[in-house]
Amino acid sequence: MRLETVYLDYNAGAPPRPCVLNRLRTWPAEAANPSSLHGPGRTARGMIETARADVAALVGADPAQVVFNSGATEGNNTVLASFTGRRILVSAIEHPSVLEAAPDAERIPVTPEGVIDLEALEPLIKTGSPPALLCVMLVNNETGVIQPVDDVIRLARRCNAAVLIDAAQAAGRIPLDMRVIGADFMTFSAHKIGGLPGVGALVLGNCIPPPVLLRGGGQEHRARAGTENVPGIVAFGLAARDAKSGLATYADLATLRNTLESHVESRAPETVFFGRSSPRVPNTSLFAVPGLPSQTALIHMDLAGISISSGSACSSGVVRPSAVLRAMSVPETFAPCALRVSLGWGTTGGDVDRFIAAFDTMIDRMKARRAQAV
Ligand code: PMP
Repeated sequence: MRLETVYLDYNAGAPPRPCVLNRLRTWPAEAANPSSLHGPGRTARGMIETARADVAALVGADPAQVVFNSGATEGNNTVLASFTGRRILVSAIEHPSVLEAAPDAERIPVTPEGVIDLEALEPLIKTGSPPALLCVMLVNNETGVIQPVDDVIRLARRCNAAVLIDAAQAAGRIPLDMRVIGADFMTFSAHKIGGLPGVGALVLGNCIPPPVLLRGGGQEHRARAGTENVPGIVAFGLAARDAKSGLATYADLATLRNTLESHVESRAPETVFFGRSSPRVPNTSLFAVPGLPSQTALIHMDLAGISISSGSACSSGVVRPSAVLRAMSVPETFAPCALRVSLGWGTTGGDVDRFIAAFDTMIDRMKARRAQAV
């Protein structure tokens, strides 16, 4: 009998929360195109506005600041496209939706601990013409390291640069207050907090007019054309409400994560942990067991019913060397062995026990193979 899967890949995408699944099971047939003026259209419009208020509450914004879109990739592209031809600085550990959308942007280095190097940023800003935009993520998707965005914003203000914060991995994990953070743009994806994939939001600071990528309709106050993804937006709102109430206990996940890390360390003392000495969100662990390639480990764990990921950028099923680890100056021998375990709203102590059991078997096999080879 195959055991139920233990899902420990929340940074790639959190499973939809029960409130989301329940809502979709009873999806009302009377929800129509929210731009239609008839009753079903108005019903859908009302659902979107409720979701907008819930998403705004999660991120400490006014509902009018929230522009629904298809996710953080679109949000990042929207903002970066609006700064084309101007000087842009992005951190070296940004998501590809930033790095590839702004190929000419200058890179802000990070320390070996995975934190944006503020000492390097200051002279970089002063070199050449003042930058028009600084783009940094709030939480890194591979290491879980929380970035010093307050300091970045302070430096940006001195040179009148706008600031884009990719908060896809921060929502629902640390308290967020757009008003206090003071960024000009923040980007989010619903599936990172237990909504559905393919929906998200660009949250605007005081920028008038907002940057526009998709034109051809009056939706989202002309900031994002295209008929709204009503079920996706409703699911986003429900997940945001749940995530906000879960914030009070989210830090408890650190106990499970730390148990997991302590066990890995005791069973395989040669393990290298990345970003562990930096402030991290409670759910993420990135480590490498030297000599155990990520691919081998992922297959072993998958066969044991445990879903984790390699630390490498992995899109469309292709595992590539991690640009984040390279930016952190991690030796080339460790990067191909990186494993990311990310916990979330549904993770239990039993899940961590299952991970530990599968990890032990994997290490036993690795050691047995090594002993045979000598
Ligand atoms: N930014 C970060 C930090 C992410 O982790 C991700 C998803 N891995 C994205 C942006 C892109 O999100 P999406 O694919 O939902 O657009």
